[in-house]
Amino acid sequence: MGRRKKIVQECEKLMDKPENIRNIAIAAHVDHGKTTLSDNLLAGAGMISDDTAGQQLAMDTKEDEQERGITIDAANVSMTHEWEGTNHLINLIDTPGHVDFGGDVTRAMRAVDGALVVVDAVEGAMPQTETVVRQALREGVKPALFINKVDRLINELQEGPEEMQQRLLDVIRDVNELIRGMTEDKDYDWTVSVEDGTVAFGSALYKWGVSMPSMEETGISFGEVIDMEQSGQRQELHEATPLSDVVLDMVAEHFPNPLDAQPRRIPTVWRGDSESELAESMRLVDDEGEVVFMSTDISMDPHAGEIATGRLFSGTIEKGQELYVSGTAGKNRVQSVGIFMGGEREEVDRVPAGNIAAVTGLRDAIAGSTVSSVEMTPFESIEHISEPVITKS
Ligand code: GDP
Repeated sequence: MGRRKKIVQECEKLMDKPENIRNIAIAAHVDHGKTTLSDNLLAGAGMISDDTAGQQLAMDTKEDEQERGITIDAANVSMTHEWEGTNHLINLIDTPGHVDFGGDVTRAMRAVDGALVVVDAVEGAMPQTETVVRQALREGVKPALFINKVDRLINELQEGPEEMQQRLLDVIRDVNELIRGMTEDKDYDWTVSVEDGTVAFGSALYKWGVSMPSMEETGISFGEVIDMEQSGQRQELHEATPLSDVVLDMVAEHFPNPLDAQPRRIPTVWRGDSESELAESMRLVDDEGEVVFMSTDISMDPHAGEIATGRLFSGTIEKGQELYVSGTAGKNRVQSVGIFMGGEREEVDRVPAGNIAAVTGLRDAIAGSTVSSVEMTPFESIEHISEPVITKS
């Protein structure tokens, strides 16, 4: 069996264990390193070759595609990651990094429960950092911080340990100020901290990273990082403390799984009857409940046609189902259902609640549609935040 097929099978097994699923987005100010980090994670999970990671070529593992040099858009991918002896399914939704991105980013946030906020150590928190943090919190999505390009502090700016530490602390303080200013629900302290393990530092370009838990595990401290960077031992640093492990461990440990997230998020994103069976089924991530899916993105595939990607909050999606699409009359028939692997869609027999699914056949669906097996109150419309004006979709 090919490696890719094995990964698909592994993902299929994990789809039925919501406690081991993490639905996440990476969000950042433009050029802070979101694409480079995404590639690192894919390479770390064995989805693309290690050599291509960092060159912004999210390449497929299929040999023919590598030979043909086809680069693919890693917009949505699923990968597996072992943490504390248990394999986890990590569904990563990429978010556009350009300025005119409000709608897409917020839509992506609807589908996920955790947002990895990437901030360039040299530039610090920028206006779009604020926007993405705001979008995440508004959707009830928990943030964690990755401070990128730390290699530049060491090699270009030649900062000493104290200066560097101060700069990193300043970034954390700024991000926490944004979080504190925006958290309406005071029950949740979602500020990030090094001690809690919700902050990691590193270099997406040179593929190394550190966090409090990683330093304890590998013994590689900040002092060693500085020494190794300065003496050009980047490959050794990558091997000793690989960025993908550090970040994916942080994701598995600190981001909520759908069972934890949905009871909290459903009242925020859906204003239907909270006493209904449907509400209960969404809160419980019940794969035997009615199908409730929210499409967050529609893309075009030359073979399969329109693909609706989104979050399945309840039920199980299967080929042949007839589903209602909010705002339209009649039903659409599901032609196929799949998950994303290395940016490519893989058809599977069924996708259960708690996952990100890619569905074809939903010809009436648009980004933001509620798709369901019973007629229902649609999800709240997604607010587009494109600073400073806020408009409703
Ligand atoms: P995005 O716009 O957030 O997706 O940013 P990219 O991943 O495209 O990175 C923007 C630029 O920063 C590219 O030229 C990357 O090679 C560079 N870059 C990304 N991460 C690092 C890093 O850790 N260190 C350094 N020195 N450069 C980086």
